[in-house]
Amino acid sequence: MLGILRKKPVDKLIEVLGKGRVKTSLVERKLYAYDATPIPIERALPSAVVFPESHEEVTLLVKVCYEEGIPIFPRGAGSGLTGGAVPTLEKGVVVSFERMNRFELNLDNATAEVQPGVITAQFQEQVERLGLFYPPDPSSYKYSTLGGNIAENAGGPRCLKYGVTREYVLGLTAVVKEGQTLRTGNPVIKDVAGYDITKLLVGSEGTLGLITSATLKLIPKPKARSTALALFNNLEDVGRAVTKIFTSGIFPSALEFMDSDAIRAVEDYKPVGLPRVEALLLIEVDGSPQGVAEDIKGIEELLKPMGVEVRTARSKEEEEKLWSARKSLGPALGNLRSGKINEDIVIPRIYLSEAIPRFREIARKYELLMVIFGHIGDGNLHVNLLYDKSNPEEEHRAERAVDEVFEVALRYQGSITGEHGVGLTKKKFLKWQFGEVGYELLKGIKMLFDPKNLFNPGKVVEL
Ligand SMILES: Cc1cc2nc3c(=O)[nH]c(=O)nc-3n(C[C@H](O)[C@H](O)[C@H](O)COP(=O)(O)OP(=O)(O)OC[C@H]3O[C@@H](n4cnc5c(N)ncnc54)[C@H](O)[C@@H]3O)c2cc1C
Repeated sequence: MLGILRKKPVDKLIEVLGKGRVKTSLVERKLYAYDATPIPIERALPSAVVFPESHEEVTLLVKVCYEEGIPIFPRGAGSGLTGGAVPTLEKGVVVSFERMNRFELNLDNATAEVQPGVITAQFQEQVERLGLFYPPDPSSYKYSTLGGNIAENAGGPRCLKYGVTREYVLGLTAVVKEGQTLRTGNPVIKDVAGYDITKLLVGSEGTLGLITSATLKLIPKPKARSTALALFNNLEDVGRAVTKIFTSGIFPSALEFMDSDAIRAVEDYKPVGLPRVEALLLIEVDGSPQGVAEDIKGIEELLKPMGVEVRTARSKEEEEKLWSARKSLGPALGNLRSGKINEDIVIPRIYLSEAIPRFREIARKYELLMVIFGHIGDGNLHVNLLYDKSNPEEEHRAERAVDEVFEVALRYQGSITGEHGVGLTKKKFLKWQFGEVGYELLKGIKMLFDPKNLFNPGKVVEL
């Protein structure tokens, strides 16, 4: 009789991984059911949280999950903003990569072999100490993981000049299907053999398999860097200034935009003495010390005839203060209203001066406070719709306004997301962007990697 009693799936996981790797207390299950998404989303309590420490352990756990039909929800640091790491089915398991946090640098080849749980900032610090550079710099870099960055194809201010995470991933090891190991790419810059599965996995948001290691490209660290503020009394001049800079032969390493509400939010939250102007650009240039000095002078000369004042940071501390102001903008907006929908649409740079007033019209139509800031150099803007959480009618208006924000982004040949990914919150809009043929192909790719739909089900594509 005993022979036909089936073991519970969680017990099977404990059997293959050991008790220390599988947590089932209510506290842990609750803690790992959240990420940083600021709006209400569907979520479920997982049946367990699993902490593998090696590729082999990930293989074992995926085998059990595939045999038992257990949904798998991969998780880095849980800083995602679209619900990507949030479990959505009761009997699922969260796979936390926090214990897979080792990396090895190969300086001679300018590459690194990293596990997914490495914290981005810790990796970057070590790389820079040795004279190399790993540019992708999401504002969450102090706590986000490289695995989460790869799964989301994360970017940040410096991606304007250096490109996003995808540009730096040369190869990956992943666990797919019933627990099979997939190795893609090589520690080389040139490799055109077959379809580029490495690039496909980057940005797949945990829906195609679990990434257990990555080979990353490193580049030489720029010798000098300088940051300046350009101050605008007229919002319309910003687009013209950006075009002027890019057509002058100067290519900033970062070009960030803040409107007057964004400036006010930062100054109310963590004052750094930003001037109260209509808008500002935070400009960073890097390269040789002489090149950097020439670029800053060039920008001053370009913008002076427009009546735009350019102030250059005089010390490392001043620079850090300006960047910390920019990076604190997300939390700072929480002081303006209790609710926030933070979108990260992309518009081709040439259409920005037409599109930004369209966004403002949407805010007026729905009588909402809208704050715009972000990576204006690559057209990736954070359009924030703020509302009062205790007012459901206002929240509903914000949701309707977001639909129109995406419509504008797509009308101008842009994208619904430049950084935060699709996750749960943008699934509906992905169909708008891909069209019928493209969307069917996305679904086909998902089924090839994950025929039972167990890797992060319900995220990105709807089967
Ligand atoms: C204040 C703040 C600022 C931010 N700024 C930026 C920014 O400037 N740029 C930007 O791009 N993002 C930004 N983000 C969003 C977020 O930090 C990034 O998406 C980041 O890459 C997520 O990393 P994480 O380790 O927290 O991953 P998580 O949030 O835990 O997971 C993200 C996704 O990756 C999947 N995943 C995690 N690990 C693996 C793995 N090993 N294998 C397969 N799938 C996996 C998860 O299932 C999920 O779908 C910000 C977030 C916050 C809170």
